[in-house]
Amino acid sequence: MQHPTRKRPKDPLDHEPKAVQYARSQSGLTQQQVADRCGVSKSLITEIENGTRNATPSMLNRLAEALNCPRVVLERKREVISCPTPARQPMVECPNCGAANDPARGSTRCYACNLPLSGTGGDA
Ligand SMILES: [Zn+2]
Repeated sequence: MQHPTRKRPKDPLDHEPKAVQYARSQSGLTQQQVADRCGVSKSLITEIENGTRNATPSMLNRLAEALNCPRVVLERKREVISCPTPARQPMVECPNCGAANDPARGSTRCYACNLPLSGTGGDA
């Protein structure tokens, strides 16, 4: 069941609600017991497990300690952000033979006809 009117305080969350639930089930502790160990209210633990409230970094530390599991287990799995590929420079068309020359080659001469790519004009 979805609750469209219910807003999440933070998106994305710092923690993984399902991971917290799972870690707690593995520990055999109730939400109340975890709350007691963390020094917070049970409702906060419930909200963290439901994903309706974000677990702050310090809260994650306490949760990990209470559940006796590595903190990383409870953290949201962040997507690996790949480095953006540098924008490719457009190919330089040889004014003499029309061959497409890659400017990354660093050569001012056409790879096909070996004539200067800047043309015979003078607007280098
Ligand atoms: Zn050429």
